[in-house]
Amino acid sequence: MNTPTGTVVVIGASIAGLLAARAASRHAEQVLILERDSLPSDAMPRRGVPQGVHAHILLADGQARIEKWFPGITGELTLRGAVPVEARELVWHQGGGYRLPSAVDLPVLSVSRPVLEDALRSRVREDLQNVEIVDATSVDGLLCDRGAVRGVRAGDTRYPADLVIDCSGRTTRAWAMLDQAGFAAPDTDAVRIDVAYRTRVMRRHPSMFDEGCVVSIAPPSHRTGLGVMVPIEHGQWMLTAASFHGDPVPESEDAFSVWAQTLPSDEIAQTLAAAEPQGDVARFALRSSRRRRPERQRALPSGFIAMGDALCSFNPVYGQGMTVAAREAHLLSELLERSSVVAPKLPRRFYRAAARIVDVPWRLAAAGDFADPRTTGVRPRGTGLASRFLVRAVRAATRDAVVAHELTRVQHMLAGPGALLRPLTLLRLLWASRVHADAAWRAGEGMSVFDELLAGRADMLSYGAVSRAVQ
Ligand SMILES: Cc1cc2nc3c(=O)[nH]c(=O)nc-3n(C[C@H](O)[C@H](O)[C@H](O)COP(=O)(O)OP(=O)(O)OC[C@H]3O[C@@H](n4cnc5c(N)ncnc54)[C@H](O)[C@@H]3O)c2cc1C
Repeated sequence: MNTPTGTVVVIGASIAGLLAARAASRHAEQVLILERDSLPSDAMPRRGVPQGVHAHILLADGQARIEKWFPGITGELTLRGAVPVEARELVWHQGGGYRLPSAVDLPVLSVSRPVLEDALRSRVREDLQNVEIVDATSVDGLLCDRGAVRGVRAGDTRYPADLVIDCSGRTTRAWAMLDQAGFAAPDTDAVRIDVAYRTRVMRRHPSMFDEGCVVSIAPPSHRTGLGVMVPIEHGQWMLTAASFHGDPVPESEDAFSVWAQTLPSDEIAQTLAAAEPQGDVARFALRSSRRRRPERQRALPSGFIAMGDALCSFNPVYGQGMTVAAREAHLLSELLERSSVVAPKLPRRFYRAAARIVDVPWRLAAAGDFADPRTTGVRPRGTGLASRFLVRAVRAATRDAVVAHELTRVQHMLAGPGALLRPLTLLRLLWASRVHADAAWRAGEGMSVFDELLAGRADMLSYGAVSRAVQ
């Protein structure tokens, strides 16, 4: 490893910012995290992270990466009330049936977002001697000079830096600041989804499910939204209802009960009937998922990179954001092992490799989103095919344990989509979805995959084509 050099300023002390600081701390002399909010001394929701009061699922890969960097944090979170979840305890109703239980090793914790962030923040403060978190400090300008970013400005105070890492989230203004400083703004791929979230917390009734149970219910078609119910600290359930494209979401306690009756399985309705509501209904709306493409730019300023939601803000229903942020932080750490925070080529190398990290979850999300014909925006190449493949995979997972196992691993980023395309798995997938699709066909819903093949409509449904579309 190189000798630690220079100063790094991180904008934003949320998940991406804390992990970026962890990555930089071993390679820089000093790391300063500037956060706009006054940070609470305990695990509390805060203004700068409005999504924090909604259900957050940390995928298995993200969980493993965070544990690797902060050994023992899983145990600490469990002591604070986070609930370990086993794969077999997932009640996952999607594509018209329950996903078959899988023996996949899924080291997932169910925890509220403020507790996760608070635990990470404490570990950054305790473990990383050269990292300082300065809160109540809003970055409102970048210090730019001769093709490089050389620090940030917050009010009248200037913070010089050899590397600025923007982790200020979905609403980042850093790209606009760079634009003003004369650097062309990167292309943005946007997918219009109009997601609405409504969340309420309930005290868990002892008669309802094992503690480690996570319930996710999605109707066969995207059109009617979905519900997810996760156990969190203090013996509570957090229940989130999500809809797309302006479809209704429940706005009150009573409306939640009515909405739950419309779901295709009754776990959430039963829980609502027995549980004791706590607090008000929380709301969140997101118009588009958005991916910046700095890797396509010819000229990039040195001394600046963007990570986490500032680089790509996903459709939240797939639970990808925190895990992608963790992957990007690990990437940064690997690159810094080989170069340094002052290396002029660091941004180009980072964006090029980060694009590969973002690509798979972005395409998987697009495959899900564009299955709804109301979705508009930039379609990644092969999305139509990937959407149909995903629908098949989800259906097959209700009938074939091997497919269920692989699909769960892919969704938790423990395996790439190629795991579903290995010849035997692909055969099982096609066969299981055919049986299922035949029932749908008889009910007039559509053609089975073999009908499509025979009719010549699935000409692209070859191993290679699917492979290119979803990888
Ligand atoms: C409704 C919803 C549900 C979600 N569910 C999941 C889920 O289940 N699983 C999952 O993995 N991800 C989920 N996500 C995504 C996840 O919240 C983010 O990916 C994750 O928080 C990483 O984001 P971030 O750290 O890049 O930005 P954020 O969490 O948005 O944090 C940005 C930080 O920057 C600070 N900041 C902003 N501007 C400035 C400034 N000018 N100066 C200083 N500080 C500033 C903010 O105060 C904040 O602390 C969800 C998102 C939403 C919206």
